[in-house]
Amino acid sequence: MDIFLRHFSEKSRVEQTWLSELFCSVRDRLLPVLSEGMVVDEVALAVVSRLQGCFSVDSLPLSFRCVCVSELFSRQRSPCFSSLAMSTSQHRELIRETEQALPSHRALPRANLLLIGCLSTGMEGWRVSDSSGSVHCELLYPDPLWINQPMLFPSWNFIPINTPGKVGQEAGYLELIASPIHLTPDAVTFDPGGSLPESLGVKEAVRRMREKRPGKELLCVNGEVCAVSPLLVIAGKRFFSFSLRERDYTVPILVMDSRYVFWRSCVCVGRRVCVRALRVCSLRGWVGQRVLSVTPQSRLLAPALPDQQPGTTALVDEVETDQSVPHSPQESCTDIQTAHTDAQASCADVETNAAQREECASGASSATHAACAVKIKHSKIISYKGVITAVTDQEAGLYVIDGKVGLCLAYQPLRWNSGLRPGAEVELQHVHFLFRPSPHCLPTMLCACLRTSVRVTAFSLVAPDSSAPSSSHDALPRFLLERNLGVSEYLWLHYYSTALQQRLCPRWVCEARVCVVASRLLECVCVCEQDRKPRDIYREMLKEPHLCPLSEYRVCGVGCEVPSISKLCEWLTEECWSSLSLSSLLPASAVALTRAELNPLLSWSFRTWSVQEQPKLALLMGMLESSPSAATLQLRDRTGALDCVLVESTAEAGSQRPADNTAWLGCLVCIRRCTLVAERFLKSNFPSWKHLKEEKYITNKHCRVYVQVCVSDLHILSPSTAMSLLLQERENQPMREKATNEERRSEPGRRESEGAREEMTAEEGPSQPGCGTSEGEKKNPIKERASEDSRGGAREKDTAEGGKRSGKRMREEEEEECSSGRDGMEQAEKSGGGDSKRQKTGAQVNSTAATEPGLMGREAGPTSDPCVSLTVCVETKQGVALRNQQLSSGATPGLSLSFVATVTCLGRAQGWESDPRNSPLQEREYETPHTQLDLQFISSAVRWFPLLHPGSVYRLVALHTEDVAVFSVKTERFKGGVKSHGNPSLVVQPRWRVHTLAISPLTTQISPSQAQNIKTISQVLQNSSCPDIVSFYGIISQRIMLAEEQGKAPVIPSLIKDKDVCVETDLRFRLTVEDAEASGQSIQVYLDLSHNPFIPGLISGATVVLHSFHRSVSRKGNVYCRFLPVSCVTVTGLGSADSDSARHCLPPPMMLLGEWVRPEERQRCMLGRLKVHVTCVLHLKMQWTCSLCGSIYKQSGCSRTFPSCDSSSAVFQAEAKVAAEDGTGEAHVWFLSEMVPTLLLLGATEWEGLQWRVRVRGLVRVYARGWDMVSDMNAEDPLVRYLCMLCSSSSVCRELNVTCQLRAQKQEAPQMRRMKRGEREFLSKFPSPLQLTCTHTSPLPHTL
Ligand SMILES: [Zn+2]
Ligand SMILES: [Zn+2]
Repeated sequence: MDIFLRHFSEKSRVEQTWLSELFCSVRDRLLPVLSEGMVVDEVALAVVSRLQGCFSVDSLPLSFRCVCVSELFSRQRSPCFSSLAMSTSQHRELIRETEQALPSHRALPRANLLLIGCLSTGMEGWRVSDSSGSVHCELLYPDPLWINQPMLFPSWNFIPINTPGKVGQEAGYLELIASPIHLTPDAVTFDPGGSLPESLGVKEAVRRMREKRPGKELLCVNGEVCAVSPLLVIAGKRFFSFSLRERDYTVPILVMDSRYVFWRSCVCVGRRVCVRALRVCSLRGWVGQRVLSVTPQSRLLAPALPDQQPGTTALVDEVETDQSVPHSPQESCTDIQTAHTDAQASCADVETNAAQREECASGASSATHAACAVKIKHSKIISYKGVITAVTDQEAGLYVIDGKVGLCLAYQPLRWNSGLRPGAEVELQHVHFLFRPSPHCLPTMLCACLRTSVRVTAFSLVAPDSSAPSSSHDALPRFLLERNLGVSEYLWLHYYSTALQQRLCPRWVCEARVCVVASRLLECVCVCEQDRKPRDIYREMLKEPHLCPLSEYRVCGVGCEVPSISKLCEWLTEECWSSLSLSSLLPASAVALTRAELNPLLSWSFRTWSVQEQPKLALLMGMLESSPSAATLQLRDRTGALDCVLVESTAEAGSQRPADNTAWLGCLVCIRRCTLVAERFLKSNFPSWKHLKEEKYITNKHCRVYVQVCVSDLHILSPSTAMSLLLQERENQPMREKATNEERRSEPGRRESEGAREEMTAEEGPSQPGCGTSEGEKKNPIKERASEDSRGGAREKDTAEGGKRSGKRMREEEEEECSSGRDGMEQAEKSGGGDSKRQKTGAQVNSTAATEPGLMGREAGPTSDPCVSLTVCVETKQGVALRNQQLSSGATPGLSLSFVATVTCLGRAQGWESDPRNSPLQEREYETPHTQLDLQFISSAVRWFPLLHPGSVYRLVALHTEDVAVFSVKTERFKGGVKSHGNPSLVVQPRWRVHTLAISPLTTQISPSQAQNIKTISQVLQNSSCPDIVSFYGIISQRIMLAEEQGKAPVIPSLIKDKDVCVETDLRFRLTVEDAEASGQSIQVYLDLSHNPFIPGLISGATVVLHSFHRSVSRKGNVYCRFLPVSCVTVTGLGSADSDSARHCLPPPMMLLGEWVRPEERQRCMLGRLKVHVTCVLHLKMQWTCSLCGSIYKQSGCSRTFPSCDSSSAVFQAEAKVAAEDGTGEAHVWFLSEMVPTLLLLGATEWEGLQWRVRVRGLVRVYARGWDMVSDMNAEDPLVRYLCMLCSSSSVCRELNVTCQLRAQKQEAPQMRRMKRGEREFLSKFPSPLQLTCTHTSPLPHTL
């Protein structure tokens, strides 16, 4: 050291201390890694002289501290930038510029660190090493001659990688901004080693390669680099390829020797290089293709670029003048614009072709894939240079360049982290340009394939975004390779992985599993190509003309959206109001309706949408859960919840029943086929129909949206534990495949071509009626998935290298032989083969039911926690309502949702070592005689309501207890001294679970319940011996809101406000329910749901079972039903607007008056067609009515005087009653308002004129007296005379074809009438004539 310091004897004491520290550093850190013969003093002196060379002045950088590699890792926790040459003001200016260009980023903080080391090579490329360790480094234009040379690094960034949980990964890397400076001047000599063969041009090399037998002679080739592949890792073996070009000739060179991996950064496109000692070899599986491959003697000569001379470039210059990469044809943004138009033009070219293919495809897979319209486009290959402005998702390989161009590196299977940060300048050679490959990315996308060289040409000066949340999307590139995804599908997958993470994590799915769920969703949405060829890496890298998975891309249509629940609800709400046309809700007679009649007609309406017909929707996705506050099933995600009416098809074709399987709770499902329903509730105050356009008369409006779905249309993305058990149980059953063949065929999204899958389906057992016919279909996807997952897991353990895995898969189909580097490839082959075998047999991995470890938020997996159970069969259940309940002792009694289910206990309570869940019923659980029990579900326990149905068998499980007494019942036979005849009752605790049990031989022994006495409508109508309380089923044909009861104060709202219960206030309506078996029979049912949670699904076309309704008979003898507090409404079949219109297409039956008058016919048929003769007009009334108060309205205003009415709107009402007969009987037919002009044969203008004349008088009434028409008014009034004449004219008294409805009428005794025939008089009984209302007239067929 003294010799060294002697050179600086004139320096100050501080400088001397600094120099001695430098000396120690060189001695301890650098010297041990240098070759023999280096003298420490010389090296230290060289360092000082190079340092002084960096500065123009002869001073020492005293503010800099020597740092070694291990110190960087251990102490430098944040990214930093170090530069010897840059002054403080220069640095400040640089920061300002950088932060201006990227406003959301901060520049790297400066650290004054002095780094001296030796450049060496490693597995990934270049490294900086000293005696304390080595660190990966990125260089811009390295020279192969730098290897093993001591260097001073004048300017660099250090980027630490603090990935929690990723142990073993290096903790950072260096970006060498300026070229390193040699410390030994004589090091630039080159020893080629052995004799030098002549250097060939590319053309000559190509000729020789054709001639030579592989592996005989070593060639030396020089030329310009035209393509560089990414570094691939296959079975731990690293390799890459590059091509040299000379005019039209190219020669591919494979670098299979991992010692030469560092060449990759030396061979950049456009650089001239010379490669020595290459061997000619051929690729197996690619006949005739020969390539050059490196040998252990190979050397690369890459002359340094003119402005990249080591040690001469000052940093600032470099940063600013680095635009000078030669030979690279660069696309500016204007070029991109032209590329746009080209791309669009080429799209148009291929579209017809694509359309044809699409037809073929859709023909094969029918309408099941209608969700995704596919369009094929061709990509264009370009070169591009730009600055990375954002990292969309590093793990998924997605970036943004220049703020407007997307970059996808996912097809290059390796880690992409080095240097690709915001602010870095990148050069892309041979990159695919895609235009609008997906709606979920920027319109312009650049996608890199195995041919693309991605090169950082200037390192970023901003700090990496440490705040960016970890996306756990590292599995995505793996899916890309495993499933052979197209780029559109990949971008879709990435978008929805992020979306699902936001919607489901962490409550339902853990972050690590999001990608798996997203990929299953992708399978449901997109037609993943079955015929896509497996990737062949060598062809992709080397073959001319270039062909790779990115050459052609399929653009998924916009219909691939999977909206979040809240988005869906928003959309539904919006659509529901925008599609509302008030006038369409009104009948033709609306013009004559007063305010009181009009507004109730507007107060409720509904609209349905079929999801598969929506262009913007692919499917719905969410967790199936049950809501304790609404007592309904819901489809949920973190954004919201949507009520769900779930039914399942029964064995009987076309018929449905409510879903009863609790295993569905906790399943993550997606739904392609379903009906979305919006019910609109409107409070309005329209004076008359003329004011319908004026919004101000709407006082309140809201809507209820929900989804109606059949179990067979649910696709499980992730099963609940109980569902997994159920599916496993099915699998263990013996083969009974024939029965399910039909069902399986109908499953959408099935991949018919998969052999393995076919095998599996053949083993599947028939589906269980207890759990819905369709669940059998679900088994296979799940099974497949379970196996996929286990494989995925295994792979992850297998290796930490993403590229390794992907490489394996890529190698599945291709085998190659390359004389050099053969050992490595053999290994790769084995591994690839093994992998493919695993792929094929993977489907046999046994457990479907393996609980998915990542799914959370549901019951824990099987444990040895003891529990007790009770098995019951439900006999009847009440409806859920707010009832006064005394909950646990001490709690204050109050309103809470509750219901009671009467059940038959199949046996005594049983103890279990672990939760039996829904495992099959065991012998010990079944014991006769059975006893009856009332189960009380209170408060949060009402969540079981939607899945508890009479006739189904359930296991009630109390967890964490061994005490069977929890199910012991209070037998309160004597309640307050009164003997109770009711069943003993048991309160279901909120923490108990209910599991639906599949039908088994044991449960079929249970005799069909007598209590469940469900009648048809006809039985309710006709059987006078019917009990007062009836249960019946039918199809809803009409729903009408009942007018608000004036002056009735709502009692409930204040009480329920804080209960968080979903009650529709003042929901009173009338349902017209038709007989499901016999047409024409219908009953009116009055419901008052103001104490009950809203019941979705009560729309026309829906089949409902109405339990425990009160049967009443009106004064006029009509049978109707009323809702009771214990009544329960269950939707058993789904309705829709379509079914509504379909039902009303059928014309009513043709009737004869003589038949219709009979009581049984009157019960049977409400609406009929008649051909009648009008004998006379009995009366005709025309009136202007005040639409607000209903009084007569004259020209000047409302005639009401006390209190006076200042209404300004009036409606015209007309009513005519005629006597009609058809030869078999007589009837009185009423014609109301809009039917009157038809009866009187008046045209529109005549009718209008008549209305104006009536307006002066307010009311005109004429009626028959004897054979004449008379009026109470002045008989000379011309209007009266005209009407009297008209009514008795033969044009009115004529034949008519009418459709009539029975009017409610009292059953009267037949009239006695005196008849005269000739001389004789008879006294004869005539039944009172039928009272009918004409709803429609049709012209008579023209007869001569
Ligand atoms: Zn390509
Ligand atoms: Zn009035």
